[in-house]
Amino acid sequence: MVKNFFVVCGVCGCAYRIRVQAGYVNDYSASFHCTQCGNRIDGAVHLDPSCALVDFRLGDGSVASLTDSAENVRALVELSGELPSFKMSSAGCGCMISPYMRAASVFRFDELKEHISELEFCLDYYRTDWPTVRTALQLFNDENDGFAAEMLLRCEKKLLEEDCSERPLLNRIYCFSWTGLPMVADADARKRAKEVTARVRRLQVDALADLAGFYLASGVTGRHVLAETLEVFDQVAKAYPSLVNGFTFLKANGGYSLEEYGSYSCTPEDLKDLYCDEYELIGRLMVLFIGLDNIVRDGAFDAMPPMLNLGAKTFDKLGRVSKAKRLEAVGTGAFTGLIRRCWKPGLRNAFCHNKTRFDSETQLVQALRDDGTVDPAGDTYLLEMACECILMAREILVMREAVFYMLGRGIWTDGA
Ligand SMILES: [Zn+2]
Repeated sequence: MVKNFFVVCGVCGCAYRIRVQAGYVNDYSASFHCTQCGNRIDGAVHLDPSCALVDFRLGDGSVASLTDSAENVRALVELSGELPSFKMSSAGCGCMISPYMRAASVFRFDELKEHISELEFCLDYYRTDWPTVRTALQLFNDENDGFAAEMLLRCEKKLLEEDCSERPLLNRIYCFSWTGLPMVADADARKRAKEVTARVRRLQVDALADLAGFYLASGVTGRHVLAETLEVFDQVAKAYPSLVNGFTFLKANGGYSLEEYGSYSCTPEDLKDLYCDEYELIGRLMVLFIGLDNIVRDGAFDAMPPMLNLGAKTFDKLGRVSKAKRLEAVGTGAFTGLIRRCWKPGLRNAFCHNKTRFDSETQLVQALRDDGTVDPAGDTYLLEMACECILMAREILVMREAVFYMLGRGIWTDGA
């Protein structure tokens, strides 16, 4: 079922036809920018299949109004709660078939069905269950082990339907650190994380203890590092509804073209903090991975290889090198070789300095240089940006694995 609504921009008077396709997700928000004046228009879709209700309302802060008239329509905005939509610019050709009909040519039927039920599950999970899981993990990171165990018990009973209270706490925390992030934690990240463990297990414990000691000297324990990762995963969990189309795009594995398809479940502003924070964290965790690479190469975490030019001659200087420079270490050793580049330093810098441009028709986000010209290396479609946010989260999962291993060996705690 499809229903049309007409929205008039309160700034410039442009009208938009909002086409809502009734799908499986009953409540979702949608946002877009007026293509003429840039005014941000927010709305929410509410579906009630029991009475065939399809409703669209404008958000309280939107300078826009709903109208019955189809006059002066500038573009069509196609909304779907779970599938990528046609962009406004190509709307003319896309209005005839629904996002579902198009999805049917991208996915196998059972695959699509399974994917959508996963999305539905996660939309509910991240809203209602994640706060308890996050609290349990947070309590552990804060060394509140007693309360952490109690909270975990609640999560385990509800989500795993088993009693794990006999197992060691770290083991249970580790388990939830993965199962507690459905869809974000995918099979590929798990596979690479396993490889991290396999490789770190082969290293001398003394050398690992020295690396942990480097962090402990400035008061940073393994649990502190876990806390940093949890902060970012909490942002991912909160941003889940904005990332929905990104998950579908990744699942489609090239089935959707970024030129044609976009997303109205978020705008660049909704994702930019997450994008920057994930990038920053990967940059910080990279120091750990460079240290592990050094151990593999020379037996000591601080044995910086002369051929690797990261702008730091000694390991302790790495902290002062820019994140972009540190990230150049990706692929240079056994551990950094397990990391995949899925970020754009230029885009992150542009966000940090408020120097981006967004075209609401093409949904292209561009990075501007100091002189106002475009840095093409930063060009990113909004949907692509959502994908990069998901992919960066997966890299963090892979890197976090080394922290868990070192905690498990008892070598990255205050008392060590
Ligand atoms: Zn306008």
